[in-house]
Formats: sequence, structure tokens, C-alpha cells
Amino acid sequence: MSECSHDCLSCSANCSERKPESFLKALNPRSSVKKVIAVVSGKGGVGKSLVTCLLTSEMQRRGYRCAVLDADITGPSVPKSFGITEHAMGTEEYLLPVTTESGLQIMSINLILENETEPVVWRGPVIAGAVTQFWTDVLWTDVDYMFVDMPPGTGDVPLTVFQSLPVDGVVIVTTPQNLVGMIVSKAVNMAGMMNVPVLGLVENMSYYVCPDCGKRHEIFGESQAERIAAEFDIPYTARIPIDPKITAMVDAGEIEKVDGGELAALADSLEKALPLKSES
Ligand code: ADP
Repeated sequence: MSECSHDCLSCSANCSERKPESFLKALNPRSSVKKVIAVVSGKGGVGKSLVTCLLTSEMQRRGYRCAVLDADITGPSVPKSFGITEHAMGTEEYLLPVTTESGLQIMSINLILENETEPVVWRGPVIAGAVTQFWTDVLWTDVDYMFVDMPPGTGDVPLTVFQSLPVDGVVIVTTPQNLVGMIVSKAVNMAGMMNVPVLGLVENMSYYVCPDCGKRHEIFGESQAERIAAEFDIPYTARIPIDPKITAMVDAGEIEKVDGGELAALADSLEKALPLKSES
């Protein structure tokens, strides 16, 4: 047997030292991103983008430099939530993210399209390629925490995104009626296959507080967040109410001003689970 070259990519030997092939894409040399957190959901419309934007804003308020990579190419809602109307600019070498009022860096397909109402009718590999380029070709400046608004579901595109970006942790977003174990278990299994820890479960639209009597109504059924989190060993849960004020502020592009509510405690646990190197 020939001597080991330690380069598994160019060697066909099936030895015990063999490392699995890595599909990770490199960030461009002038960018810096310390931690990447993927926000996932079993299906669309459950508030994944809302949670991504609220969590990112909460971390930014704590003094970290944060970014959102909007990987939900066919349903991009991040720029509108932050009230961004301008287009992303580029140089020969890089695409520059758009910066929000508080300094958050954002990249989304809607910042590139001529007309934001244009549908993106691309096939999966092209969509996945666009997301990968948001990682490799955008100039991300000194980002501490990047939140990736993942495409919904557990299909081909989210899988490629997981394989291409160095995701450090996952937050799963769901609603009470979707907490039928199966959807969460698919998301948990996907993260497990990628060797990425699930850091939290957010139950969105969990309840509604009557503005007249202050009583909590669990409109979509009793909360199952704690039970499901225990079943899948997810260390942290947060509940977000249905709140027309949130809808109005998102529509007005003022998501940075929305109070994170229970997400503040989830942000505490993200800081602990993924400390920045200089602090550890
Ligand atoms: P997803 O990313 O899962 O497709 P979005 O975050 O875009 O879902 O949410 C869909 C819509 O529902 C948005 O208009 C959002 O503002 C609204 N929404 C989500 N969660 C809430 C909530 N808890 N209270 C009020 N409106 C909400």
C-alpha cells in the first residue's frame, strides 16, 4: 500500500482514517463571520422569517455585530420587515449587503431583483446556488452572529444550504397545530444528519392575549412546546403570541423596534451555547 498523502479527496483508499467529503464553501477572504445559526421550519407561513429578524435584532441590541442571510429565495420577506427599499450594490469582486438602521447586514434575493414582486421561478439547484453565493460572494464585515432564514421544509435546497454553510446551531420554528411531532422530528433529524445541535424551539402564534380582559387564549390548541422539546432533547423553548402589533410593525418595516419578548431568554441561551472565541 502506498504511503498516506493525508489528502482524502485525491485518494481512493477506504482506510479507517478516511474523512467524509466536505461540501463546505469558503467565505471570501475579506469577509468574517464567527457564528452561523440556521432558523428552520417544517413548512412556510409559521413565522420563521419573523423569528429570524426578531432574534437578529435582539442580538444586535446586545452589542454584537449581526447579519441576516435570507436563504428563503422563493419567499423573501426579510428586507421588507426592516423597511429596506434600496438595492444591494456590487463591485467587480463583491456584492455588498444592505445595512439597516441599527447596523445589521442583510442580503436577500429581493435586494437584487429589479422588481421585488417578480417571482423567482428557478429550479432547486439554481436556488441553492444563489444561497451559496450569498455566503461566498458577499462582503460580510466582522459579523459575530449570522442568522440564516432557511428555505422551509427539509428538501433538497435546505439540505444543500446545510452542506455548504458552516452552520453552528439550529433554531426550529413551529406553531401549535404543527407541533405534531413529525414535522419537528424531521427538522431535528436533518440537523442530526448534519451534526448540528438544535439550540431552541420557538412556538409562534402560541396564544392570544385578549386586549379587553387580558386573558390568554390558546387559539390553535394547547401549547406543546415543552413536551416536544423534552421528547427531542431540545434545550430551550420560547413562545410568541399572535400579536396584531407585530404584524403592523412588520408591515411598516419596523421589526427592529419590536420587543423580542421570550426570545430574549433564547438569545441568552444562544450566547451561552455559541460564545464568541474572544470571550471564551
Ligand atoms: P415564514 O417565514 O414561516 O413563511 P413569516 O415570518 O413570513 O413566515 O410570517 C408570515 C406572516 O405572519 C407575516 O406577515 C408575519 O408578520 C405574520 N406573523 C408571523 N408571526 C406572527 C405573530 N406571532 N403575530 C402576528 N403576526 C405574525
